[in-house]
This record gives sequence, structure tokens and C-alpha cells, in this order.
Amino acid sequence: MRVSRRAIIAGLGAAGLAPVLAPALVHAEQFAGTYDPKAEEVADGIWMVRGADEPIAFSNGGAIANSVIIATDDGAVVVDPGPSLSYGRAIRALAERVTGKPVVRVYVTHLHPDHSFGAGAFDARSVHALPATRHDLERDGEGFSDALFRVLADWMKGTTVVMPQGDVTAGEVVIGGRKLRLFALDGHSSGDLAILDEATGTLIGGDLVFHDRAPATPHANLDGWLTALDRLDGVPHDLVIPGHGPLDSGNAAIAQTRDWLTWIQGMLNDAVLSGKDMSEAGATPIPERFADIKVARYELQRSVSHFYPGLEAKLLPMVGN
Ligand SMILES: [Zn+2]
Repeated sequence: MRVSRRAIIAGLGAAGLAPVLAPALVHAEQFAGTYDPKAEEVADGIWMVRGADEPIAFSNGGAIANSVIIATDDGAVVVDPGPSLSYGRAIRALAERVTGKPVVRVYVTHLHPDHSFGAGAFDARSVHALPATRHDLERDGEGFSDALFRVLADWMKGTTVVMPQGDVTAGEVVIGGRKLRLFALDGHSSGDLAILDEATGTLIGGDLVFHDRAPATPHANLDGWLTALDRLDGVPHDLVIPGHGPLDSGNAAIAQTRDWLTWIQGMLNDAVLSGKDMSEAGATPIPERFADIKVARYELQRSVSHFYPGLEAKLLPMVGN
């Protein structure tokens, strides 16, 4: 016997669970979404695919991270295949269309699902990441998957956690005559890959670089992140493609990310030491210079929730000494 969704919703309602579970079921009934990523050529043979400068939500299908397509003589390279199997397929088709060649390599810059979960659309042997990223995905991938299925429902159809098969090591790699320099960094997460395309001076920052969109910190080590930004700042480049937000034609995005993280770090320390609770800290006024940064309040509040318990444990005993 098949049980209709309507009966399930009615049953859940009777059990008092409808407010939690019904939205995904309703989404499933109404679902008609397809991803339509657009590629903009930002340098010779390099296309940027912009994500929405928003939190992950059903309305954007989780497509909030930027992806990159690079043309080589052997085929296309995709950096960050997006949040779901369906998005990965759309990026693969887009890469094939703009380069006229199949995808021969996929780089996943770090563990976060808005960047990594589209990997299932590609041959797993072509998917490369830092060993730390594979380790992180083995630990957190299923949990991320559960969380995304709850929010994104049918956008996630068929998506599974695909482990990258190839290890990235720092240094130069040549694919189809195109020289890429790979940087093994950390700070936004425990493994953050950044890539420089030597021919065009395009630096692909992954989530080490945010631009006009507040940095997300759920797995961050702020000191490590600031060190990584110093490293990227020292790499000669003409363009920066951030993990989130618009293209940067200089050092503004790196400087802005550093400015935000330094402010967050100081603000959190001050808030803990002055005895503010988490909700008070989350209400801290955002400086005027960050007024145009998207989702600033949202990420500020998330950063408070990520860092506050650890900071209180570290800083408050000193107050009593
Ligand atoms: Zn991230």
C-alpha cells in the first residue's frame, strides 16, 4: 500500500511534528527547480560562475559559492562543483559548452558542501583535493548531507558524498599545457586549496577570500586564516576570484577579508571580557566600513555561536586571576 504525502503530513500534524518536517514535503510537491549557472569569461580561458551572495536556502538551491572553469588543451578544469549532484551536472555541461572539451580535472577547494557536493557529477578519479579535505569530508560529509537535504529537499536528489580520489600537493601542475600553481593552506578550514593560473595571473582563493559578502567561520582558525591571507597577498596576481562575492581586480578582497576577520576576532574578545552574553555579542553594531557587505549580521551571529564557548573557556578564567 502506498501512503500519500498528504496522509503523512496529516499524520505528522497529529503527532505534533508537522512544523518541523512538513516544509520539505511541501517543497517536494511543488518542486520544479533547475539550476541555470552562467559563465562569465574573466580572463583568457577562465570563466567565473557566480553563486548567490546569500546563506544556503531552498530559494537558491544552495548555489551560493562561486565556481571556476579553466580551459586547457586536454580539457576543462572545474574548481568547486557546487552544492548538489544536479548543480554539478549543470556545471559540467556549462564547462563542456564554453571550452568545447570534456572535464578532465575537478578541484574541490575545501570541505564545505556548497563547494564540494557537486563532485558526484564527475568521474571520482578526476576529483582532487587536499588530503585534509578528504579527511574532513569523511568526518563531516554525512552530517552536512543530512542538513542540506533538510533545507534543500529535492534540489539534493541523488546527491551523495563523493570522496575526492586524487591528492593535491602544493606546487606546480601542468594540465593540457596550462600551468597552475597550487597552494596548500588552511584557516577557513583545516585544508584550503588556492590556485594561481600563471598565464593570466588569476588567483582562485576558495573560501580563504570573501568579497563584499561576510566570511563564514564554522570551521575557522582565525590566526591561521590571517596567515594564509598574508601568503596569498604575497603571490603576484592580477585578478582574484573569491569563494563568495564578485571578482576582484587587485587586493581589495584579500584586504577586506583580513579586515573583517581581525575585527571579528577583537570584537569577540572584547565581548567575552566585558561579560556580554552571546545574544548581546551578536547584536554588536557593525562598523560603517562593512555597511555594503552582504549577510554581515547573519555571519557575525554565526561567528559568535562558533567561537563564544571556546573563548569564554579561554579568557574568563584569566579575569578571576
Ligand atoms: Zn567554506
